[in-house]
Amino acid sequence: MTAGLDQQAARARAGELREEIERHNRLYYVEAMPEISDRDFDRLLRELQDLEARFPELMTPDSPTQRVGGAPIEGFQVVRHAVPMMSLDNTYSVAELREFDGRVRKGLGVDEVEYVLEPKVDGVSISLRYERGVLALAATRGNGTEGDDITANARTIRSVPLRIATDAAVLEVRGEVYLGRAAFAQLNREREAAGEPLFANSRNATAGSLKQLDSRVVAARPLAAVFYATGEVEGVAMESQEDLLRKLDELGFPTPKYWWVCRGMDEVVERAEELQRVAGELDYEMDGAVVKVNSFRQWRQLGATAKAPRYAMAYKFSEEQAQTVLRDITLQVGRTGVLTPVAELEPVALAGSTIARATLHNEDEIRRKDIRVGDTVVIKKAGEVIPAVVEVVAAKRPEGTTPFDLFEYAGGKCPSCGEPIARDPAAAAWRCENPDCPDQIRGQLEHFVSRRAMNVDGFGEAIIRALTGEVVLKEEVDDGLFGRRVEERLLSPVLRTVADLYKLTPEDIELRRPNRAVGAKAQSMKLATKLHAAVEASKGRELWRLIHGLGIPNVGEGLARKLAQELGSLDSLMAADEETLARLPDVGGIVAQSIRQFFEAERNRRIVEALRAAGVRFDRVERVAAAANEDGFFFGKRVVLTGTLEGSTRDEAREELRKRGARVVETVGKTTDIVIAGEKAGSKLTKALELGIPVLDEAQFRQRLDETGG
Ligand code: AMP
Ligand code: ZN
Repeated sequence: MTAGLDQQAARARAGELREEIERHNRLYYVEAMPEISDRDFDRLLRELQDLEARFPELMTPDSPTQRVGGAPIEGFQVVRHAVPMMSLDNTYSVAELREFDGRVRKGLGVDEVEYVLEPKVDGVSISLRYERGVLALAATRGNGTEGDDITANARTIRSVPLRIATDAAVLEVRGEVYLGRAAFAQLNREREAAGEPLFANSRNATAGSLKQLDSRVVAARPLAAVFYATGEVEGVAMESQEDLLRKLDELGFPTPKYWWVCRGMDEVVERAEELQRVAGELDYEMDGAVVKVNSFRQWRQLGATAKAPRYAMAYKFSEEQAQTVLRDITLQVGRTGVLTPVAELEPVALAGSTIARATLHNEDEIRRKDIRVGDTVVIKKAGEVIPAVVEVVAAKRPEGTTPFDLFEYAGGKCPSCGEPIARDPAAAAWRCENPDCPDQIRGQLEHFVSRRAMNVDGFGEAIIRALTGEVVLKEEVDDGLFGRRVEERLLSPVLRTVADLYKLTPEDIELRRPNRAVGAKAQSMKLATKLHAAVEASKGRELWRLIHGLGIPNVGEGLARKLAQELGSLDSLMAADEETLARLPDVGGIVAQSIRQFFEAERNRRIVEALRAAGVRFDRVERVAAAANEDGFFFGKRVVLTGTLEGSTRDEAREELRKRGARVVETVGKTTDIVIAGEKAGSKLTKALELGIPVLDEAQFRQRLDETGG
């Protein structure tokens, strides 16, 4: 198809192909939203290879054809980092994080500091240098001052952009290269089959790959990368870490999936816990979190020591250990009915608190580690999460212990409701299948009202226990015949499903209030009235909270947010078939099936209908999401902002555009859809006019914003 091209036409076509191929690369490797099939992709790549073969003078270092690797090299050149790659101070304790916060506040002379919390990715650090938007150099960290030039190897990493849309003279972008979990396992399987030594962990495998002298070997390994920092920068304005992460994302770099702007250290600590909980979702290993002051102005105020910046701190997920005796194993019934064995320990001090219980995960794990009641065990605590049993101290095993058998231990019955338990092969767990099991209901309610779900204020464990179980009510009666005496009355549970919450009366709550005094008067309804009001208020919560709160297996908070955005109402979610669901971003076949099964269950349908009847909103989607209306003028467009806007700051305008589903980019190019030009717009406006790209002035921009809601 390109046979008859002259050199000039070939050059134009090669340019087009490169842009197109890199766009699809980004869609596939960074955004995980491919638009074309692998075959069509290969076809484009082959066309470009052919062109470059016929016109070798057209070959450029940023051509996607370079990603397959080139001739082996003798050794790596040493290169000096324009800005050193520093270390980070680190700690394992919250107390020291707070001391860090104290130093920062003192240094800045402020009461509260805004931080960004992001994962500490356990990969191999890399620095990429872009000159006028083209990848010019990739280097390892080395000793921080000098590293190895691994440009040829870095080019083979598909998620590393070879060219970015910026005119900036220099932009150095820093992050970590890693091998995803599945890729690592696969690599080791292949090595095993080939009789080669196995890599101990993903980090070693990554380091080993990047040190290959033959870049074609590197190209065959599915390395990935994630970026979170910059080195030398000339010609790009960034004011904060938050700004930096957004900008990298806009430029097409993979950035951490989870990161948060936090006001103050309390929020940082809370988010660090959340980060540990979602660790399993990420394809890379994480050895902690990094806390960074958000504002770059404040970075400059705080400065750095010779080794590390004063504005950042790594909070490592520690592994402090201790030994103690396993007194007993109890079984906890979770909200999905899974029986989780819990270690009841001889209390022991660990990481600043006294530990008497630890998780044992599941029966298989207990068997694998051969943990027996009576054993001395090693326990560890990683950061703020629940402590876990690591291993048994074999030398200290007393006589007469027996291997743990969960079924036997439970007598075949659920410890909460007494119904028979069954093995769930998919979850490698024993499960109580009784939907009316009190512990399950309790767990579902605790989840439903929790802060990350419907956020019903004031519902603690004690009150939920009282509302889901039987309660003995002591009342003073005086019937004239026998005189005053205390009578006991058995109250039955009032909460049997999460929907029952909305039928609660203040009286229901008051009668079951823990520590209620005998003969308490109705005036003491303060707590009950407050809780009742909190329940009422929760009827208007955002849709994602409701979806998350329902506790659909495999649907966590992040996915609940996405489902809410994509589908807009609970009814659409319930109506969607498996195929439709599986096509949504981040929803695979398993998740789709799990959602379908959830809504097919009779009991869940009843709960949903009861929630509806109670007036719980099914369609409140946050502004940010709702605005991303696909029919909206800005949806899916690549928009460039230039010049000064009167009505808002650049950041605000950018945010408004993002809410409407636009992608705000920095430079004007052929793929730009719209340019918004404020006062004193310069070269970008000229370029837009040259390329014939539609330009909106501020008034037109505002009008479009109004039309598209927001
Ligand atoms: P350390 O090597 O323990 O002194 O930690 C510093 C290193 O952590 C940096 O050089 C980076 O390679 C790495 N690192 C991983 N994730 C991050 C992050 N989010 N921010 C900064 N550095 C990170
Ligand atoms: Zn049960």
